[in-house]
Amino acid sequence: MNHYPFSLAPLPYTCDALVPYLDPETVTIHHDRHQAAYVKNLNKALENCPQLHCRTLEQFLLYPGMIPAPIRTAVCRNAGGVYSHELYFDGMTGCPKSAAPIGRLAQAIDRCYGSFERFRDVFTQTALSQFGSGWAWLAVCPDGGICVLSTPNQETPLSRGLRPVLCADVWEHAYYLGYQNRREAYLDGWWQLVDWEFAEENFLPCCGGFAPRPRSL
Ligand code: MN
Repeated sequence: MNHYPFSLAPLPYTCDALVPYLDPETVTIHHDRHQAAYVKNLNKALENCPQLHCRTLEQFLLYPGMIPAPIRTAVCRNAGGVYSHELYFDGMTGCPKSAAPIGRLAQAIDRCYGSFERFRDVFTQTALSQFGSGWAWLAVCPDGGICVLSTPNQETPLSRGLRPVLCADVWEHAYYLGYQNRREAYLDGWWQLVDWEFAEENFLPCCGGFAPRPRSL
C-alpha cells in the first residue's frame, strides 16, 4: 500500500474554534500554509524515490537510516513537520471535556510528577527554554514511563525512541500574530485547549509497553 503522496490532514475543527486562545488567522495560516508546505516538500523530496512510497511518516522518523543520504535531511525535516502538526492540531479542541488529564494518563502524570500542576509547570518551563524554533512534548519512554522534552526545528521524539502523546508548537509562527513574542501567554492559552481525551487515547496503547502505532490520518 502506498502512503505517497501524503496529503494535508484537514483541521479537526473550524478555524475559529480555538478563539479566544488562538485566532482564526493564526490557525488558518499555520495549517493552510505552514503545515501544507511540509506536505508539499515531503512529497517533492520523495518524488523520485518510489521504493519509499510505501513508508509511513512514523517509519521515516523512526528509521531515518533507510532513507538514501541525498534526501534524508529533507525527508526527515518535512515528515517531522507533517507528523508534529497533525498531532498538534489534533491535540487541541475549543470545547475540552476535561480541564485536566484523565484515566491512565492522569495516573501516570501523578506517579511521575506528583501532580498535574507540577507536570504543567515542568512542561511549560521546557517549552519556554526551547531556544528558537521547536516543540515541547509529552512522550512515553520505552519502559512505559512518561517524560517531557523539547526538540529543535522539526525533530520529533520518535528519533529518540520515545512515543509522542501530546505536543505544543513553539515556533513563532504558531503564536506571533496573537501574542507577538509572548510565548508564555500563548502556552497559557494552549493549556486551555488541550484535548485530554485525545491525549488519553494516544497514551493508552503505550500502557502495555513501547509499540509505535501508525496514526490513521
Ligand atoms: Mn508550526
